[in-house]
Amino acid sequence: MDIEKERIAIERLKAFEPETEPYYLCYSGGKDSDVIRILAHLAGVKHEIHHNLTSVDVPETIRYVKSVPNVIIDIPHDRNGNRISMWSLIVKKGIPPTRIMRYCCSELKETGGKGRMKITGVRSAESLNRAKKAGMIKIIGKPKTVQKMAENIGADYEITQAGGLVMNMDNDENRRLVEHCYRTTSTMINPILDWTDADVWEFLQHYGCESNPLYQCGKRRIGCIGCPLQGFKGMKKDFIQYPKYKYLYIMAFERMLESHQKKEYSWKTGLDVFDWWTDSDRNQMTFDMFDT
Ligand code: SF4
Repeated sequence: MDIEKERIAIERLKAFEPETEPYYLCYSGGKDSDVIRILAHLAGVKHEIHHNLTSVDVPETIRYVKSVPNVIIDIPHDRNGNRISMWSLIVKKGIPPTRIMRYCCSELKETGGKGRMKITGVRSAESLNRAKKAGMIKIIGKPKTVQKMAENIGADYEITQAGGLVMNMDNDENRRLVEHCYRTTSTMINPILDWTDADVWEFLQHYGCESNPLYQCGKRRIGCIGCPLQGFKGMKKDFIQYPKYKYLYIMAFERMLESHQKKEYSWKTGLDVFDWWTDSDRNQMTFDMFDT
């Protein structure tokens, strides 16, 4: 196990700990979120462990999440208090979630913790896209306001393509910027950004964490039932294992077609949408005909 990486991650968590309230720790039930949960404990920083339900949660993951001491399970709601689910999002967006239009993660999994300092298990090694967008600290807020504040404080930052601000140096200026920003922006600390897969597994083994049982069933990534990010083969497997969810997706696609009658879909029924959606990865990658 890389003791030095562990030490640095713990130092990062201690350095950015809010003075007046606990961190909001984003816990998905996957291996990376188990690492940050254990690191937060080792660092002795105050934190709350939050898991967001998506409505297409894998039962094994829910059971595993519930076994974690003091976990808080949240159900996403909109500003008017209505529940947001995969089903409501499909109807609202007018398209199924795809690998290039994964609106569900941002609306179902990443909404909690507004005005809180969040800990995430984001790692560069997990995706090239993340590597480009992430830093050890990521701040998403009104771009000009955040940049002006960063300039005034003298923080060492970079702007991402998506408009966020990322920082890799944990110096005093950056700490002050985070202290100023986290109430009004979405501010995330990614303490294991530079960890490899091997670092993660060795760390979990060292601390006796058995991790989500789905990994032992061959899953490389913990997502929802029918998650498009796993590719169409994984999606098909999911629907063999959880047939009720095939029906629920088809029903949601039916409602989607009904509520977007002006769109010139080539699909006539919810089953047409489902068959297209699970037919091939190429279908999803080339799908760019509708606005989200
Ligand atoms: S894990 Fe997959 S299905 Fe679940 S919210 Fe994220 S992108 Fe959507």
